[in-house]
Amino acid sequence: MQPTACLHKEIELSDRKSLEALQLSRLEKTLRRAASSPFYADRFAECGVEPAEFKSLAQIGDLPFTTKEDLRGEAYPYGFLTVSRDRLVRMHSSSGTTGRATVIFHTKRDLRSWARLMARCMYMVGVRKRDVFQNMVGYGLFTGGLGLHYGAESLGTLVIPSGPGNSKRQVHLLGEFETTVVHAIPSYMLYLGRVAEELGLDPRKDLSLRIALLGAEPHTDAARKRIEQAFNVEAFNSYGLSEMNGPGVAFECPYKNGLHIWEDSYLAEIVDPQTLEPQPVGRSGELVLTTLDREGMPLIRYRTKDLTRFVRGQCPCGRRHIRMERIQGRTDDMIILKGVNIFPLQVENVLLNIPETGNNYQIVLETKADGRDVMRLQVEVDSEHFCEDVGVLKALQKKISVEVRGEILVTPEVELVEPHSLPRSKGKAIRVIDDRIS
Ligand code: AMP
Ligand code: ZN
Repeated sequence: MQPTACLHKEIELSDRKSLEALQLSRLEKTLRRAASSPFYADRFAECGVEPAEFKSLAQIGDLPFTTKEDLRGEAYPYGFLTVSRDRLVRMHSSSGTTGRATVIFHTKRDLRSWARLMARCMYMVGVRKRDVFQNMVGYGLFTGGLGLHYGAESLGTLVIPSGPGNSKRQVHLLGEFETTVVHAIPSYMLYLGRVAEELGLDPRKDLSLRIALLGAEPHTDAARKRIEQAFNVEAFNSYGLSEMNGPGVAFECPYKNGLHIWEDSYLAEIVDPQTLEPQPVGRSGELVLTTLDREGMPLIRYRTKDLTRFVRGQCPCGRRHIRMERIQGRTDDMIILKGVNIFPLQVENVLLNIPETGNNYQIVLETKADGRDVMRLQVEVDSEHFCEDVGVLKALQKKISVEVRGEILVTPEVELVEPHSLPRSKGKAIRVIDDRIS
C-alpha cells in the first residue's frame, strides 16, 4: 500500500517523537496563554495549576477539565478570551438545541489555522484545484459551511456555496456545473439521491460527483455505504465541533480505517465519562480535546461528550496522527430503556443493513397505558421493495424486530411506513422522540 498525498508533508508524516515534542511546546504556550483569560486564571488558581511547572505531556491529567456548562456559565460570553476584543474577527456557535448555545471567538490567525487544517483534510482525500466543490451545509453561526468553504478556497478549488436545503436547485447545480465534490450532512445526502431520481436523473451516472465529505452528525458505516452506492462516490467522515473551531479536528484518510486527529493542533484523550480516568488505546470513552494552536480562545481538556476509542496500530497512509473510530454516540444521546443503555446508532446500524428498509427512520419512546415504556420504531420501506402484500410487510416487520432486539436486547414495536413519508429536519437529523411519562 502506498502512502497518500499530503498537503503539509512535514507535519502529516512527522514521526511520533517530533509530533509529541511539538505538542509539548504548543501545550506549554497554550497554558501560559490560557492563564491570561479570566476563566482559566480563576480555574488554575482554584486547582493549583502553575503553567510554568508543566514539563511533560503526561502531566495533562493534572489539569482541570472544561465543560459545555463552563462555556455557558458565568464566564459567558467573553470570559475565555486571551486577547482584547478588538482582535476578534469572527464568532461561531454550537448547533445544540437545548439551553444556551456555546460561542467561540476567532482572531485572524485562528481563522487562518482553521482554513489550513480544512485544506489539509480535503487534500488528503483527493480534493484538488481542478475540482468543483458544492458546500451543501449551513453558512452562518454553524461552523460547517464557512469551515470547509475557506479550506477549499485556500486549495484554489472552485466553491459553490449552495448552503443547505432547496434540494431541486441543489441537484440542478450538481448537474449544470459538473460538481465533483460535495459536503453534506449524511442524512441530507441520503435524501438527496431520491430528489435527483425524481428529477429524472440517475445520480450514479448523470452526475460528475466523485467525493462526498460527510460530517456534523453521528452516522454508521452502513449509511456511508448507501451514500457511496447511490452516488457512485467515495465518502469520507469529517469530525469536528464548534468548540474546537468546527470541522477539521479529525478526518478519514483514503484508507477509511478511523479518523486521524490532527495532533499538531489538538491534544486528544479518551476518558471514562463517569470516573474521568484516562482510557488506554482500544477502550471506549469520552473524547477530551485541548486546543494547541488557538490564539483567541484556547480550551483545556474540553469534554466533547462524544464517545469513541483510539484505533491501534499504524495507518498505511504514513500519517502517525492518532486515529479514532467513527463516533458511537454522545453521552447525552444515550437512551436508557428498561434499564438497558442504547445508542441510536446501534438501531441505525441494523436498519441500514437491511436492504428492504429505506433511508429514514425515527425512534419513538413512549409509555403504554399499563405503564410499560416501549420503543416504537418507525421505519420507511425502501421504494423498490414497497408493496401492498401484507404477508411480505409482516415478514419484514418481524425481521427488523428480531434483528434490532439482537443488537439492543430490547424488542421494539416496528411500524413500517411508506417511502419518504417521515419528517426530515433541516439540519442535523432528529432520530429520537422521547414521549415517555417519567
Ligand atoms: P456543533 O455544536 O454544531 O459544533 O456540533 C458538534 C457535534 O456534532 C459533535 O460534538 C458531535 O457530537 C457531532 N458531530 C460532528 N461531526 C460528526 C461526525 N463526523 N460523526 C459523528 N458526530 C459528529
Ligand atoms: Zn491514514
